[in-house]
Amino acid sequence: MEDFIRGMPKVELHLHIEGTLEPELLFDLAERNSVTLRFGAVEEVRALTTSPT
Ligand SMILES: [Zn+2]
Repeated sequence: MEDFIRGMPKVELHLHIEGTLEPELLFDLAERNSVTLRFGAVEEVRALTTSPT
């Protein structure tokens, strides 16, 4: 049974974009699509998306 389950194809039901988009790509996509972000720098976004230690 375990082999059967492990062998089955898997899908991701959905992703949370906040958790999957690197800040650098966010800025690239914004520029490419002429979108103005409310963030001035990559570090600003990273601070919001990084867990406190
Ligand atoms: Zn969810």
